[in-house]
Amino acid sequence: MQSKAKILLIYTGGTIGMSKDFETGALKAFDFSQLLQQVPELQQLDCEVDSVSFEKPIDSSNMNPKIWGELAAIIEDNYTKFDGFVVLHGSDTMSYTASALSFMLENLTKPVILTGSQLPVGDLRTDAKENLITAIQTASLREKGKAVIQEVCLYFEYKLYRGNRTTKVNAEHFQAFNSPNYPCLVESGVHLKWNKQLLWPVSEIGNDLKVQYLLDTNVLILKLFPGISETVLRSVFSIPSLKAVVLETYGAGNATTEKWFLKIIQTAVEKGVYVVNVTQCSSGSVNMGQYETSRELKLAGVISGKDITTEAAITKLMYLLGKNTAPKDFKTFFETSLRGEMI
Ligand code: ASP
Repeated sequence: MQSKAKILLIYTGGTIGMSKDFETGALKAFDFSQLLQQVPELQQLDCEVDSVSFEKPIDSSNMNPKIWGELAAIIEDNYTKFDGFVVLHGSDTMSYTASALSFMLENLTKPVILTGSQLPVGDLRTDAKENLITAIQTASLREKGKAVIQEVCLYFEYKLYRGNRTTKVNAEHFQAFNSPNYPCLVESGVHLKWNKQLLWPVSEIGNDLKVQYLLDTNVLILKLFPGISETVLRSVFSIPSLKAVVLETYGAGNATTEKWFLKIIQTAVEKGVYVVNVTQCSSGSVNMGQYETSRELKLAGVISGKDITTEAAITKLMYLLGKNTAPKDFKTFFETSLRGEMI
């Protein structure tokens, strides 16, 4: 008989792990050793749950690559002791963290599921309990001794998504996330409906987990808009340490054909700055060359972000730069799906 799955719950901060002090009405992070008291339903789960909390839980707006490293280190240090990891995280930057972890955790063969909530776990109308319980349940599923999920996911409001495909779309509704270019992996209703054919394939080789801690932050996201000026664009591209830019363009990857614009982009690419074309549209893909307004970008050597999210694009740049990817390989690596983040 298979022993019960062991899940490590990692609390980084965010609304989910807070409880209301009924005397003052203020929200505060609750003591994680009290988790079972807060969520007694956890005892009914068919798995063992241990928890660890950041010493100083953060609002996820304060998330950064150093803290991603701390989180990855907790996973690495506990990797052999647990069958899966559930990361409790504020929703604001959860898609960035999910994307970053998906690249940093190389050869991942266990589930890492991020979740959070719009209302604290202690609130009467909380969405935290369902998110937490189903995230743990999906993380604990194993078949033939192997984890069914072997990738970084995000669970929110009845849906499990590939983490690096998600984006936060709503600051008010319980359905705060969307995965515009990739269907959800599991849908929770009366039963859990698995789309197993969409999961990252189960590894047969089972290489050891390797963590890429170094991320290069000399990167930038630049959203085009009608009226963007030459002076502004020129000064952005003259930042001395700049190594890569996610350029959010219109529609299928289109941008103005004004000469000064193309010249700035061409010069930047020639200087060795990587420019990635990502669409501002909430879904769909970049297709450089489809229109005259993107042909020149393609000719200039701009990298196609295809259907990647901005969150995944910026973290993929940090990762590939951090790995010291050779300039001759950079475009090919970026345009290749490494963790299912693009077509
Ligand atoms: N501001 C909070 C955070 O991202 C919101 C949340 O927890 O959902 O940490």
